[in-house]
Amino acid sequence: MSRQVTREALEQAMRNDELVLFYQPKVCLLTGDVLGAEALVRWTDNSNVVLSPDEFLPLVESSGLLHDLTLQLLDQLVAAIVTLRDTAPAATQAGAVAHLPGALENRRSLALSINVAPDDLASRTISNQIHALLQAGTISAPELQIEITESAVMGNVDRVYDDLVRLKNMGIKILMDDFGTGYSSIDRLSQLPFDSLKLDQGVVKRMATSRQNLDVVRSAISMARELGMTSVAEGIETESVYNFLIAHGCEEGQGYFLGRPMSLHDFKGFVCAEHDFEGSQIGRVHQAS
Ligand code: C2E
Ligand code: MG
Ligand code: MG
Ligand code: MG
Repeated sequence: MSRQVTREALEQAMRNDELVLFYQPKVCLLTGDVLGAEALVRWTDNSNVVLSPDEFLPLVESSGLLHDLTLQLLDQLVAAIVTLRDTAPAATQAGAVAHLPGALENRRSLALSINVAPDDLASRTISNQIHALLQAGTISAPELQIEITESAVMGNVDRVYDDLVRLKNMGIKILMDDFGTGYSSIDRLSQLPFDSLKLDQGVVKRMATSRQNLDVVRSAISMARELGMTSVAEGIETESVYNFLIAHGCEEGQGYFLGRPMSLHDFKGFVCAEHDFEGSQIGRVHQAS
């Protein structure tokens, strides 16, 4: 279906709740547990996806609709958090996590992450709303995470820094998205309040192609660790990449191999189902030794 993307069409889609969040599972590479999901916006029409975010977000920003969309998506996200709260993740085999103190207790709280643009932070749209939600007790801090791309941060450090710190002080985890595509210096990284580096999917996909590309991923993972951050790999499409990441100590993963972005209804089913991602035994053996 082709649809002319105009400001009017966008406004109408927003009024009709056609901009909908999908959820892509995030998995603990150590245990295979589903930890939560990344929320990704889609323009839908009778539940079919019409447009992907890259096709309409630039217009959202240029036509001044970002503030409204962000609030609308945050509402959807909070409703999803509340819905999922009572969805018990499938039990992990007790033996597989017995060496991990706290793992059994922690695995019931799912975290959903939302992508934000620099303007969302500069305007405090997100942090004001999250502050109110936390104050009201609607959500708790571990249930929501923020993703912002490396290039968006590095191009706007002065505009986003205060709000990142504000969110961090509320206990919200902040992930640097698409790491490896921007120009962070170690010095800058150490001064910014990030909890995790999300390795860009291009970097992740290339790791299987050469020793040098593999070394890039390995050094990113160890740099994250040196700086007190965890590593999350996105774009895991194959079992071999999945196993490489496990073997090199990456903590979390996301990608078509583990699960595609899906509706909230399907994600609920995903959370409840049992998963035995191929190769996860390797990670357990590696990490346990
Ligand atoms: P991102 O945050 O880096 O999201 C990851 C993108 O990679 C998503 O594309 C996802 O569908 C895709 N992906 C995940 N796993 C795989 C895989 O294994 N293989 C391949 N080929 N692709 C994979 P999507 O959903 O089209 O989103 C594109 C970008 O749009 C996102 O990149 C994010 O930066 C932005 N975005 C999405 N939703 C929002 C939103 O609600 N607000 C804002 N400001 N930006 C958003
Ligand atoms: Mg993201
Ligand atoms: Mg990304
Ligand atoms: Mg991206």
